[in-house]
Amino acid sequence: MIEINNVSKWYGPVQVLTDCSVQISKGDVVVVCGPSGSGKSTLIKAVNGLEPIQKGTITVDGVPVNDPRTNLPKLRSRVGMVFQHFELFPHLSVTENLTIAQIKVLGRSQDEAQARGLKMLDRVGLMAHKDKFPGQLSGGQQQRVAIARALSMDPIVMLFDEPTSALDPEMVGEVLDVMVKLAGEGMTMMVVTHEMGFARKVANRVIFIDVGGRILEDCGKEEFFGHPENRQARTKDFLNKIL
Ligand code: ATP
Ligand code: MG
Repeated sequence: MIEINNVSKWYGPVQVLTDCSVQISKGDVVVVCGPSGSGKSTLIKAVNGLEPIQKGTITVDGVPVNDPRTNLPKLRSRVGMVFQHFELFPHLSVTENLTIAQIKVLGRSQDEAQARGLKMLDRVGLMAHKDKFPGQLSGGQQQRVAIARALSMDPIVMLFDEPTSALDPEMVGEVLDVMVKLAGEGMTMMVVTHEMGFARKVANRVIFIDVGGRILEDCGKEEFFGHPENRQARTKDFLNKIL
């Protein structure tokens, strides 16, 4: 589903991704963790072509992301992305937020888009808020709308970049619950997060990236958490800090 092969990236002279390779199959839930500035956001954004890379290749469902012939808007319409800061349109109602891209990008009718959007809103438990504006919702609710909006596009994969790190602690759970449910339904997910409880529950793989964008670990959840003695010193150090 996602193939990241020997990817390197520099900002000027600074290397931020170093020979990264990650394979994600259909139905995988891959958690990516690592210290601040290690390149987690850069890597996840590179997957849908939001960050150019200088070396290596990335394909999503067989489509080469960095091939100039690739229709990136079309590819991105199939890759759901949820960021740290819920980027809902503040001047549009929840329902309008859910339908606008379906209408403009996928060419769906208003009725079709609305039916799909509200179905996804129901899935994240927010049907009662369909006519509100983002400013009238809590951070956790806004983030759940952002997830519903991404799901309305029928994505083949969902990318999450620290979706709960900007939330008040009491709202983290409601967003993670939605993500756990999504994982249980078989959605392919790549999730940058330090929520190791989430990783333990639903990840099938955990990747640790160190500063410089070096992947130091990529292993099954059981191995990652069950055999800490096998982790690299840098990973242990990191886990000790966050757990
Ligand atoms: P965090 O946990 O803080 O979100 P991260 O692992 O997501 O960090 P990135 O945001 O991917 O890290 O950044 C990786 C490196 O690239 C950092 O050293 C950062 O300073 C640098 N960087 C990111 N964006 C740019 C940019 N537009 N120009 C120059 N350097 C950048
Ligand atoms: Mg980041």
